[in-house]
This record gives sequence, structure tokens and C-alpha cells, in this order.
Amino acid sequence: MQSEVTRANFDQWIVPTYAPAGFIPVRASGSTLWDQQGKSYIDFAGGIAVNALGHAHPELQQALVQQAAQLWHTGNGYTNEPVLKLAKKLIDATFAERVFFCNSGAEANEAALKLARKVAHDAVGEEKSGIVAFSNAFHGRTLFTVTAGGQPAYSKDFAPLPGGIRHAVFNDLASAAAMIDDATCAVIVEPIQGEGGVVPAEPAFLQGLRELCDTHQALLIFDEVQSGVGRTGSLYAYMHYGVTPDVLTTAKALGGGFPMGAMLTTEKYARVLGVGTHGTTYGGNPLAGAVGGKVMELINRPEVMAGVAERHRWFAEGLNEINQRLHLFSEIRGLGLLLGCVLNQDHSGQAKAFNQAAAREGLMVLIAGASVVRFAPSLIISEGEVKEGLARFEKACLAVIAGAQS
Ligand SMILES: *Cc1c(COP(=O)(O)O)cnc(C)c1O
Repeated sequence: MQSEVTRANFDQWIVPTYAPAGFIPVRASGSTLWDQQGKSYIDFAGGIAVNALGHAHPELQQALVQQAAQLWHTGNGYTNEPVLKLAKKLIDATFAERVFFCNSGAEANEAALKLARKVAHDAVGEEKSGIVAFSNAFHGRTLFTVTAGGQPAYSKDFAPLPGGIRHAVFNDLASAAAMIDDATCAVIVEPIQGEGGVVPAEPAFLQGLRELCDTHQALLIFDEVQSGVGRTGSLYAYMHYGVTPDVLTTAKALGGGFPMGAMLTTEKYARVLGVGTHGTTYGGNPLAGAVGGKVMELINRPEVMAGVAERHRWFAEGLNEINQRLHLFSEIRGLGLLLGCVLNQDHSGQAKAFNQAAAREGLMVLIAGASVVRFAPSLIISEGEVKEGLARFEKACLAVIAGAQS
């Protein structure tokens, strides 16, 4: 069958911010996708930690279709039943007492940072406006969040940048302590740096940040856009660490593939964002609310959380075996189903080559920086798909090794 559109059209028509793979996926089920030519791919990428229940989950389809027949959108002059039910689920399951809904991770972080500024301005004044973030962090692409992110390459071309943001070294409490003082209104940190290379925080580091924030009346913001919604084997990574933030941002898997984000916080802080202080047209719309509610219902179950731990073992064992045979990785790290294979010196900088070789073998993987191959599959991926995907990954690794020698 002749397709009307091809991958070449991307290079003609789309703003070139991405370099997508050479094939176009057209349908999917569970953790398997098919492209325009009918070739199959096992999905270890999960739409970048989004498709936490795989593709075309029957209960998510039903939630979306049922809501689509009822009510799509009303705007924020009206509330709706699905979003209220989802808010209650998030509140019951976490430290939070209030939720602000939006459409993406960047917007959730934007809301969190604006909340922190306003809390401090209301209580103290504009002199308390400092934000401490971390090198190699990723918080999104709006100007405020990309500045908070710790990768100057992503922000420098868009100067002048919002002020008042400093970057300490991740997992180095002393470097953070040197920057956090009474003029600090917020500390924003990923419990596991995702884009920055799949680097889990040390428990003592997060605990130390909690104490510094308490000492200086600064809000502790956990960016759980990637680590949340069951990814680590806990509903949110803060539960795994036993360190509770003042504000938590969540997106990616929250909608299971439907765009949705949220900022969670306590009553005390939520209060400062009174009527008219912040907002978004689509945030908490009924379609997103219906899907998000079903995602939470399906994921926040002990058997799903235990399943994440079990699948972590399948991946860790499989990847360690591959590494014993091929000697490619200096470290296999991460929590739950957010895993990173750190390429050793011989293959440093080649993560993209592994990603492309995997696609040729029928496997979708992610990278996290130039030297880490990242996996963020469905939390309910089948054992058969994990085995087949790892077999394809080993073939891809062999192809990269062969290519490097030829
Ligand atoms: C993906 C991501 C974001 C940005 O989310 P968008 O939905 O792309 O705006 C923010 N923080 C972290 C930790 C992420 O992984």
C-alpha cells in the first residue's frame, strides 16, 4: 500500500527541532508497535516514560471514548466530574492536599516555580526570590523551566533568561548548602535525573535538601515528571526515598499518552494562588481527567508496583548477561523501570548509534545524553516482550561493535 505521507515529509514540513527515527509507527498494542511497512518494534522507550500502561490499553480506550461521547471541554469557568475524581485520587494517594492541572511537565514546573516565588513574596518580599536547581537537571522547555534546567546548551540561545536561578552540583549536598540561604524561595530537584543520564539521588542528599529548605523557609519542589506514576516501583519516587516535598510536579505517565500534567502541594501553599493568579485553558479538561483517573486507578495497585520490581529484575539480569558477553557498559543504573546503561570508554558518545542499531533490529530505546542508553518501558510490559526486546538489543549491540571495528 502506498502511504500518502512519508518520513521525508518531516524534513520538509516540520520545524526541525527533532530528528525522529527513519520509520513511522502507525499502530500499536501492549508494548509492540508496527510501522508503515508492517515491521514490528518492541517498545522499551514507552514514549519517553509516558505509555506506562503500554499502547491501546482497553480500559484507557474505554475511558477516553466514553468521555468523548459525553463532554470534551468547558473551560475553567466550569469544573467537571472527571477532574474532581482524579484530584481526589491524587490527594488520597500522596502528601498533597491541592492539585493544579495543566498539560505538560514544563507547565507543571512553571506553576511550581511561580507558586514558590509568590509564597515568598507574600510572606517576606521580593528579596526572597532565589531558586536553587542542579547541573544536568531537566525541567522542560519554557524559558523559566529551561533556565532552571542545568544544561546551558538548551537555554543560552534564548537569552536574556529569567534571573535568580543558580545551579548546584547534583548529589553534592555541600554545594547546595553553599547556595541555599534566607533569600532562597525554592529548591527544585529530580529525585532521579532522567534526561541527565538516569542518575538516582542519594537518600542523604534529598534528606539534606529537606533540612536546608526547612531551615531557610524555602519550598522543596520534586520534579517527578519522569520518576512519577509508578515508574520507580513506588507511586512517586519521594515515597521510595521517604523524603516529602512541599510541591511535586507530575506529567508524562499521568495521562498514559494523553497530554496532562499536575502540580501537587499542600493547603498552606496552594492558598497563595488565588483566583486569577495563574491558569491555563486546557488544564484539567474532562478528556484528560477521565484518562488520568483511569491511569491512576490501574497503576496505583500493590500488584502493579510489585510487577515493576519484578520487571526491573528481568531487565537488570538480561542487561548484565549481555554485558558479561559484550563488555559495553561501565554501569547499569536506575530504579524500577527507569534504567540507564552507561557506555564504557570504548563506546563513549555512541548512545545514538545504539539507538539507531536497535531500530534496525526492531526495538525502540531512548538515550539520556551521548553516553547512556535509557529504557522506560510500560510498567506492565509482558515477559515475552522483555525477552524478545533484550534479544534484539543484543543483536543491535553486536552490530554497533561490528560497525566500530570495520
Ligand atoms: C520530560 C520532563 C519534563 C518536561 O515535560 P514536558 O511534558 O515535555 O514539558 C520536565 N521534567 C522532567 C524531569 C522531565 O523528564
